[in-house]
Amino acid sequence: MKRLFLSLGSNLGDKKENLMRTIEKLSSALGTPAAVSSIIETEPWGFTSANSFFNCVAAFDTPLSPTEILHITQETEREMGRTAKSVNGEYKDRIIDIDILLYGDETINTENLTIPHPLMHKRLFVLEPLAQIAPRHLHPTLKKTIAELLNELRSCLNF
Ligand code: AMP
Repeated sequence: MKRLFLSLGSNLGDKKENLMRTIEKLSSALGTPAAVSSIIETEPWGFTSANSFFNCVAAFDTPLSPTEILHITQETEREMGRTAKSVNGEYKDRIIDIDILLYGDETINTENLTIPHPLMHKRLFVLEPLAQIAPRHLHPTLKKTIAELLNELRSCLNF
């Protein structure tokens, strides 16, 4: 079993409902979450939009492989009605976005998958909810806890 952390974000439609329905769908594939953070509201990151985001993080204990998990998260995005994907790093409004943050203490670098998620330590909308449910979890390559990464990012951003 691996402890899996997923980041969820929505900035279109009934954003809270989108997050709740997505967690329900993920639960039917991955089992009951071990933990779910509260939902936080954040400004769009990496692009300009009038629509703020609702974000949260969920943890699951799963025997599935990263590839199987990616299949589940992408299928769930499709079922939720997400059509637009980011193209060449350009972000867009979306009903739901699911990112795989961490998969136990494993490091994965394939064409389709980079774990830990390469931008997770730069994003408050990831670290704040993640620190609620896993402050002492060690980032496997940065070798710092989530609480430490959050403190560093906050002082970097002058919080
Ligand atoms: P996006 O449009 O932002 O949802 O980008 C999804 C794409 O990023 C997918 O095609 C994945 O293969 C790729 N990807 C790479 N690493 C990750 C990750 N850790 N979590 C989710 N998607 C990833």
